[in-house]
Amino acid sequence: MTSLLKESSAVKPAKVSTITKVIDMLDNRLTHRSSLYINGRWCAPENGLVLTDVINAADGSVLGHVPSGGVSDIEAAVQAARAAFESWSNLPPSVRADYLMKIQDGVVGRAVALAEIIAQEVGMPLKMASAIQVGLPVTNLGGFVRAIDEVEWEYELGNSSICREAAGVVAAITPWNYPLHQLVGKVGGALAAGCTVVAKPADIAPLSAFILADAIEEAGLPAGVFNLVSGPGRVIGDALSGHADVDLISFTGSTAVGSRIAKTAANNITRVALELGGKSASILLDDADLEKAVKTSVNNCFLNSGQTCSAWTRLVVPRSRQEVVIELAITAAKKLTLGHPMDEGTRLGPLACASQMASVLKMIKAAEGSERLVYGGSAAVAEVPEGGFYVHPTIFADVDNKSPIAQDEVFGPVLVIIPYDSVDEAVAIANDSAYGLAGAVWGADQERAVAVAKRIRTGQVDVNGGRFNPAAPFGGYKKSGYGREFGALGIEEFTELKAIQQ
Ligand code: NAD
Repeated sequence: MTSLLKESSAVKPAKVSTITKVIDMLDNRLTHRSSLYINGRWCAPENGLVLTDVINAADGSVLGHVPSGGVSDIEAAVQAARAAFESWSNLPPSVRADYLMKIQDGVVGRAVALAEIIAQEVGMPLKMASAIQVGLPVTNLGGFVRAIDEVEWEYELGNSSICREAAGVVAAITPWNYPLHQLVGKVGGALAAGCTVVAKPADIAPLSAFILADAIEEAGLPAGVFNLVSGPGRVIGDALSGHADVDLISFTGSTAVGSRIAKTAANNITRVALELGGKSASILLDDADLEKAVKTSVNNCFLNSGQTCSAWTRLVVPRSRQEVVIELAITAAKKLTLGHPMDEGTRLGPLACASQMASVLKMIKAAEGSERLVYGGSAAVAEVPEGGFYVHPTIFADVDNKSPIAQDEVFGPVLVIIPYDSVDEAVAIANDSAYGLAGAVWGADQERAVAVAKRIRTGQVDVNGGRFNPAAPFGGYKKSGYGREFGALGIEEFTELKAIQQ
């Protein structure tokens, strides 16, 4: 850890005396977990208790621990979910909505602890973690409650009754960057649809999944409807995706692991929904309000220190305006004070783990050899706590879209500015990516901007800073995966259609 920091020289130890030791104030039971949640009770892993440390991204200290489950725990969890499926799926949707409301109450009641824990597990500044990492899942749970009524559970088509039925046992495998939000997107949609769930959180930032399980237990869900097994992805993830009794795998994470899961699932013809990586473009048209567009794009790119799958990491700008854009981007980036996530003045926290920091610094260093660095870089200095996983926000300009820094997902605070000469070229640049998750278009002529948005091959596009809509489907094209989450479509994702003729 220390050697990584020294090697990067991107950080300089700072005094930490002003930083509240919030973890001392946290309830130890929320951070130090030694039980899995299977079949409605907390139990030790079957093959003995092995604990995995959860690391505080801010300073590398130990924040807590979770048990490392094994294949036999997955077996027990899948069987519990299978046994609970019939009665849960046969409940009226309105009863399942009542349970979801109780879960939402439980999350709201734990919101402060959740925000403090996620801020330190992931590294997002506390205020933002509270609004986004906790506020968003609370909103989305409410969204699922409302969307249950929007789903057409049964309708007539000629002499057929078309019935929408729960898909079955769902394996929900999630990453660490928005740990509660990602899990709620799967668990909320699946439970609303009438599915039962086996959840497997990432090894990094798993604690909020345990707090969600507390809320689910408190809500009184029938035993087996929701199960939680933490542990190494390679072992228990493979066991889940290769399990013949799992009907649908909903995965969010890297493209490499998503591809592996899809291959394993194919052996049993198990359905798979994949939410994967991204390399999204924000296109500034020649009539865009540059100040607003650049500031919003920079903040979007650096949100959660760049660890956001849908981040607009490529800023595609008219060549004649590039130098102005660079100045505006630097001004916006300078406002993102790097520091401890629990410190009030911090606008940008550390990355989530040491390996993520090392990987991001490696990509920055490689790009420094060939690209025009206009801000930050691997040698940039900021006052940050010792031991944390900090990377200085970094901007490259004049970047060729074919270069690795414009094509590869960095998953860190790195923005590339790419110049274009015509709107057709801007669209071609945006679409010249293996990914297709999100994007943005900025222009004074709304109709023209929307027309450009329609040409972008991604699951979401925001025009002129269009507000985030939690009811809108979220998901990708191309290597960003397939399937949609949230809102009514995010419930239908977990259903099958049956036609009954009479
Ligand atoms: P990851 O793919 O390494 O891990 C994701 C989850 O898969 C973890 O729970 C991990 O333990 C598990 N896993 C690992 N190996 C497995 C296997 N063989 N079988 C089954 N499960 C396995 O991803 P990460 O590093 O946690 O997250 C970062 C990646 O996630 C980035 O690429 C990011 O873009 C992507 N992401 C995508 C979205 C989206 O909605 N599209 C959202 C967040 C993150």
